[in-house]
Formats: sequence, structure tokens, C-alpha cells
Amino acid sequence: MATISRPGNTRYDVVVIGGGAAGLSAAVTLGRALRSVVVIDDGRPRNAPAQAVHGFLTREGMGPRALLDAGRAEAESFGASFVEGAAVTVRRSSGGFDVELADGRSVTGRRILVATGLTDGLPDIPGLRDQWGAGVVHCPYCHGYEIRGHRIGVLGTGPLSVHQTLLFRQWSDDITLFLNDRVVPTDEEWDRLAARSIRVVDGAVLSVDTSDGTLTGVTVRGGTSFGLQALAVGTRMEARGALLAPLGLPAQEHPSGMGHSLVGGPMGSTAAPGVYVAGNVSNLAAQVVVAAAEGMMAGAAINADLVEEETAWAVDGYRGAFAAPREAEVSERVLGTRRHGLDDGPVTGASAPAGSDLREGVRRAG
Ligand SMILES: Cc1cc2nc3c(=O)[nH]c(=O)nc-3n(C[C@H](O)[C@H](O)[C@H](O)COP(=O)(O)OP(=O)(O)OC[C@H]3O[C@@H](n4cnc5c(N)ncnc54)[C@H](O)[C@@H]3O)c2cc1C
Repeated sequence: MATISRPGNTRYDVVVIGGGAAGLSAAVTLGRALRSVVVIDDGRPRNAPAQAVHGFLTREGMGPRALLDAGRAEAESFGASFVEGAAVTVRRSSGGFDVELADGRSVTGRRILVATGLTDGLPDIPGLRDQWGAGVVHCPYCHGYEIRGHRIGVLGTGPLSVHQTLLFRQWSDDITLFLNDRVVPTDEEWDRLAARSIRVVDGAVLSVDTSDGTLTGVTVRGGTSFGLQALAVGTRMEARGALLAPLGLPAQEHPSGMGHSLVGGPMGSTAAPGVYVAGNVSNLAAQVVVAAAEGMMAGAAINADLVEEETAWAVDGYRGAFAAPREAEVSERVLGTRRHGLDDGPVTGASAPAGSDLREGVRRAG
């Protein structure tokens, strides 16, 4: 098995798994903290199908790939290394953690940050997947502004679909909820939908329709087609965290019912000491800027954790039986100032420096 190691064959301070906004931001923070960092990434960021990143302060409209390329260059400028590939397992070892890649290579780090993001489970409706990230969207804050005033449909996928419909209503007064045999509104929800002038269509959606690559609408059971300019879909979000299961960190059902995520504590810590998480893998709702912020916080927490460990090592050394300060202390107790030949006991000719007043004094006394 090939080992990925730093020059000098030493382990890394930190192995970051996932080079999206969260992982790159952590790598920058750790590089700036003079830590050795390697980022393992298999090049499949969640928003890859999108044309642009919206809602990231100062980076409005930047391409998702361009944003990550800039982040990677920044991390490299602070010394981070990059490895292309998929990490498949993480195990504790004498060096900290061994991370194994799908191609058999491995790398060791004292700490691990998992920033692997999530996958969006899409409804299996013909035509829908091809429009994902273009005519088919999920997040009002990512795409709502760009489709403001458009004819928007919301595909019913579960209990949160009514909430999603009411949110998209903020951006358009032409909204249709397709129940799709998946949503049964309560009486209260019927009133809320009617009060916001939202149309509701019954029946399963059979296809997402396009013309020249552009979404044109949907067709429901019975063959009726509805013209649309955008279709909002709630996806089933699954954390890409299976590689942490051997460490006792399985993905757990999110309380919202939106999917599965890893459970992170303050600043990305987890129940497994030394293992940290950031971004979508532990926060299903994180936008790009939030993922980047979480990566920064986790990087800072990891550095503090390493500082604690190194300080404990230094204290052990400082207090150890043969450590220089300890030796000096013992020497001081046994010999006092005599170890320097300058003790304040009876002066002998031998111990007084030649030519000194003391030696002269001895001579005069003799
Ligand atoms: C269509 C679409 C459009 C979006 N538009 C916006 C928007 O405009 N604005 C916004 O703020 N948010 C947007 N988002 C949300 C955005 O994608 C996430 O907020 C962001 O990607 C989270 O960053 P992350 O670093 O947590 O995960 P990711 O960006 O998904 O990065 C994770 C990285 O880890 C890698 N990886 C995963 N598993 C492994 C492994 N085992 N080994 C090695 N590498 C691995 C992946 O390949 C990927 O590169 C959009 C999402 C979608 C689906």
C-alpha cells in the first residue's frame, strides 16, 4: 500500500477529507496556523450542476468551480497539500488516524476533519435529473432571486413541501403546488395556501418537460401539462459520512426529516476525540458561506486541540526526571552555589580565582 507522507516521511498535523468550501476554509485556517495539512478530495462538490454561487458576500455570481479553484490556490499559498482521490475509511492508529483511499494509498494525520458534504436524493421522475441545478431548484435563498416573478411549481415530496411552497411565494405570485401523491395538506395548510393565492394540483407528476434544454413544465397523471419556468424540489439529503462509521460516528436521521447527517458539537467537534466535521456533512442547511465559516471554526478548534496536546508534551518534558530544568533543580539542592566554584563556604586557595582579592586575602592570612 502506498503511503502519502510529508517530506521527511512524517505524518500530517491534519488530514482534511473533502475540498469544498468547508474543507478549503479549514485548510486555509490551519495553514495560516503553520500546521501541516493535506486535503483529500474526489472533485464532486454538491453545487457542481449550478451555473453560479449566489449569496456569498463579495462573490455573487462566481462559478462554483472558480470559487473552489481560488480557495485551493489560497490554501496552497499557506502550505496545504492536495491529493485527488476518495477516502474510504478512517481508523485510529499510533500516529493518530490512518485514512485509506479507494486506490489503496493511505495517509496519517494527528487530527481528522471530515468535510465531505452531502448527496441530494432526487425524485425519480423522467426529465427531472437533467434539469437539476438549472430549471429544477431546491433552495429559495440560492435561486429565489434569479426566478423572481417567474411561473414556479413546487413538487410535493413530503411534509415540508407546504412550507417550501409558502417560502417560494415570497419571490413570485404565480406558484403552483403539485401534491404528487406525496402531500396531504391539513385543513390549516389548505387555508394558508388559499390565503396566499397558491394553486394546488392533485395527482402524481409523471414527467418534467423541456424544450431545447430549458424546462417548460410538468405533466401529471391523466396527461395534463402545466407550463412552468422553474420547479422547486425538496431533496432527500444524505451526508457523505459512511467512512466515519468505524469510529462510532454513524449518520443520524435529521430531526426535520430532511435526511441524514453526522452529529457535530461546538466548533465541529464530535463524540470521537480528534475527529471534526464541518459543512453539509453535519449541517444539511449550510449554504456555501456557512460551510466556509464552519470550516474556519473547525480549523481553529483543531489547532487549539493540537496546542493543548503539544503543551501537555512540553509539561511532561519539563517535569520529567532527566529534563534540564529538573536536573538544574536537583543540582541546586545538592551543591548549591558550589557547583559554580563560587560557594560561600570556607575559602580555599584552590577555589578562589587566581589573582582575585580572595586569593590574596588567603595569602595574607597565611
Ligand atoms: C444545485 C445547487 C445549487 C446550489 N447553489 C448554491 C448557491 O447559489 N449558494 C449557496 O450558498 N449554496 C448553494 N448550494 C449549496 C452548496 O452546494 C453547499 O452549501 C456547499 O456545497 C457545502 O459545502 P461543503 O464544503 O460542505 O460540501 P461540498 O461543496 O459538497 O464539498 C464536499 C467535497 O468533498 C468531496 N468528498 C466527498 N466525499 C469524499 C471522500 N470520501 N473522499 C474525498 N473527497 C470527498 C466532494 O467531492 C466535494 O468536493 C447549492 C446546492 C445545489 C445542490
